[in-house]
Amino acid sequence: MELSSFGERFAKETGILDLMDDLGTAAAQGEKTYMLGGGNPAHIPALCRLWKRRMRQILRRGCEFEAMVTDYDSPRGRWAFLEALAALLNREYGWRLTPRNIAVTNGSQSAFFLLFNMYAGRSPAGRRRRILFPLVPEYIGYADQALEPGSFVSRRSEISLVGERTFKYRVDFDRMEMGRDIAAICASRPTNPTGNVLTGEEVRRLADTARENGIPLILDNAYGCPFPNIIFEDVEPFWNENVVLVMSLSKLGLPAVRTGIIIAREEIIDAVSAMNAVISLSTGSIGPLMLLPYVRSGEILDISRRIIRPFYRGKSRAAVQWVTEALAGQTDFAIHKSEGAFFLWIWFRDLSITTRELYERLKRRNVIVVPGCHFFFGLEESWSHQQECIRLSFSQAEEDVRRGIEILGEEVGRLS
Ligand code: PLP
Repeated sequence: MELSSFGERFAKETGILDLMDDLGTAAAQGEKTYMLGGGNPAHIPALCRLWKRRMRQILRRGCEFEAMVTDYDSPRGRWAFLEALAALLNREYGWRLTPRNIAVTNGSQSAFFLLFNMYAGRSPAGRRRRILFPLVPEYIGYADQALEPGSFVSRRSEISLVGERTFKYRVDFDRMEMGRDIAAICASRPTNPTGNVLTGEEVRRLADTARENGIPLILDNAYGCPFPNIIFEDVEPFWNENVVLVMSLSKLGLPAVRTGIIIAREEIIDAVSAMNAVISLSTGSIGPLMLLPYVRSGEILDISRRIIRPFYRGKSRAAVQWVTEALAGQTDFAIHKSEGAFFLWIWFRDLSITTRELYERLKRRNVIVVPGCHFFFGLEESWSHQQECIRLSFSQAEEDVRRGIEILGEEVGRLS
């Protein structure tokens, strides 16, 4: 098959394809697999009941079902949802949003595709511009999204030890020199893969740096507050006219409804809606309508605080303990401070093989993790740390996570 350069670029093997394939293969195989790899959220029973109840309500009520599936929405999303969300965020945080500051996308993954390519690449004046990721390791799903190769640049983060077996990445502001080629700064908060949460001070400094350079700060809030609020630290959501805040319904337990949300100043939202129209015609209505009453009443905040956050915090604590038990005495390791999201990021400080090889060995024992090397895209210098880490998800059933971690301990033990 003869492909265009676009086809060559996007149909080739990528880290995110490997990861989603591992997820699909695990589901399709008869054999027992310990799926500690993908970013699938947990099936939290109380949440599943809530979404089922809501779906029944939609089916029972007069014309809600018809409103959900029989008409195209506008390319910026269902207006009632945009109004309800703007009102909620204004009430809670004093932001001054109107519905014109919000657009829905078909998943937040596609929101990033639109945003990155809207800012990075060759400008009409012939200038090449790039997206700066100030804190790698960073989300694998961004890595292959640029239409023009070389559109991403990143800075390695500073490692600070916060305990014998715990470390935290921080933005190294001394390495963050900003060239005229930087079109936007982007970071996920909490960070996938590490569970890091940028501090309030770090976010403010990034936002100030972006404003001083006349570029936006794109903040990926897929796990963040106010919903789904998978954050174990006390932090406030952050937005101003120069920030593009990207949210998602996926980690509320609704990844299959494919709903992302962009909050930004009007001209950015207008541009996103125009691109939505070209690429997708319209946005999906199922997610916004499922959520609408909970956003109107503000209950979505309570659901996130009462159900989602404690659920994942409990899982995080248990996983840290199991990893510590499985690896202690086997190897020199440290775990990134688990401040949010549902991943543990483990740093093996003197393993005799790379973590890519460790991933292969674990896969042969039906344990799926993600090797750290995928999360360091855009770096212009080599960093041995890239070969020393793995990401492990603790969102799945407790017995599977625990057994998967035991097998990890056994495999690492064989290396010494
Ligand atoms: N951003 C981060 C940090 C993620 O982890 C994910 C998915 O796992 C996404 C964005 C994309 O999520 P979705 O397209 O399901 O909204």
